[in-house]
Amino acid sequence: MNLPAPRNTTPALGPSPVAAGDAQLSLEEARAAILRALPSALAAAGLAGHAGQPGAEDVPLLSALGRVLAQDILSPIDVPSHDNSAMDGYAFDGNALAAGQPLALQAAGTVFAGPPFAGSVGPGQCLRIMTGAVMPAGLDTVVPLELCRVEGDLALGTVHVAPGQLQPGENRRLRGEDLACGKPALRAGRVLRPADLGLVASLGLGTVPVRPRLRVAVFSTGDELRSLGQPLDPGCVYDSNRYALMAALQRLGMDVLDLGVVRDDPAALQATLEAAIAGADAVLTSGGVSAGDADHTRALLARLGEVAFWKVAMRPGRPFAFGPVQAAGRSSWLFALPGNPVAALVSFYALVRDGLLQLAGARHEALPVLQARCVDGVRKRPGRTELQRGRLTRAADGHWQVQVAGSQGAGILSSMTQANALIVVAHDQGSVPAGGLVDVWPFDGLV
Ligand code: AMP
Ligand code: MG
Repeated sequence: MNLPAPRNTTPALGPSPVAAGDAQLSLEEARAAILRALPSALAAAGLAGHAGQPGAEDVPLLSALGRVLAQDILSPIDVPSHDNSAMDGYAFDGNALAAGQPLALQAAGTVFAGPPFAGSVGPGQCLRIMTGAVMPAGLDTVVPLELCRVEGDLALGTVHVAPGQLQPGENRRLRGEDLACGKPALRAGRVLRPADLGLVASLGLGTVPVRPRLRVAVFSTGDELRSLGQPLDPGCVYDSNRYALMAALQRLGMDVLDLGVVRDDPAALQATLEAAIAGADAVLTSGGVSAGDADHTRALLARLGEVAFWKVAMRPGRPFAFGPVQAAGRSSWLFALPGNPVAALVSFYALVRDGLLQLAGARHEALPVLQARCVDGVRKRPGRTELQRGRLTRAADGHWQVQVAGSQGAGILSSMTQANALIVVAHDQGSVPAGGLVDVWPFDGLV
């Protein structure tokens, strides 16, 4: 295997940054412990000011979509670079407006978006102007075409404006009103979106400094797992977790190192883990952390790092392991997910996603949470977070409503594909009656 060298994102070895042992944690405690333990590339960059970041690269604008901005982008120009008209209409000196008085102005020509008007516009005159055209010196107000009556030729006739239609300065965009020269247009840590690329283009910049993609190794563990293309032997299942997780990572703009399926065998597991540590900033595994088979995984991980095995009070989910791992002088971060396909994916969204984004240097942006009426209700005891697959729709009265989508078993992936959201019933909450309000994470925010 030809593995690329990873960046070293793990702090120097010291006391474990992770709550050790078999702690029973609420989902919120587990999330917080992960985010505390992981280094924040963004915070480190903040200390270094705007200096270039190690490993940052300039990429062409269009290749920057979804990448993490490595440095603040300061605007090199005023945007817009000149006062201009916001409407098609007539530009004039707003001082001519007198309260309660109609206005009559003589048009002195036309200016289109592009080169400024070459002539002059004197007192009592106006200029026919198109949207985006440069405001001539001395003119600060635009009356939209639909608010005036023109007598004679549009470019050279008399323009009548009824009283009370507009204020001086209206319908003019000011130089630098979008972005002033030298001011930050975008902050380091931004995960770049289409509007950001538009904003960068409006500054005339063709390339963007971005952080290297986070590299994440993925493998599945289990003797019963078969890879695609293999026959499905009796008692076996196809490895679906690797594909769902690799796809989720791809959506986050991360590089995936696919290490396949690993048998429940300590030597094979160790070899694959070492390859993962050598080649990636983070390692994502599924299976092998539940009580039945955690023991040999535990012994191995105790040799490779400081991984804590948690019982996270969540459903689906619960078994989860996390911590720094080292091999051959390299270090990485291990996230070991439960094997049940829905538990793996839900644990990824609830526990891993934000941590990986933090490692990637992304600025944290809270996911949108909606409140919706829970059509069916959810039965639950306080003491764990329940994340159910749901279908979020708009009710006839305009409010959001969510219905439980299909069977909620931790292995039932088909109901996950029917869902478009997760219904989140918080740790301390009890049953939700039919029609009660619940928090909902729309999938479009997660991925
Ligand atoms: P484990 O967490 O290893 O005890 O696995 C729990 C359940 O999830 C078992 O039924 C496994 O067969 C199933 N499972 C584990 N890994 C995968 C995977 N990669 N793809 C599909 N099912 C899996
Ligand atoms: Mg297993």
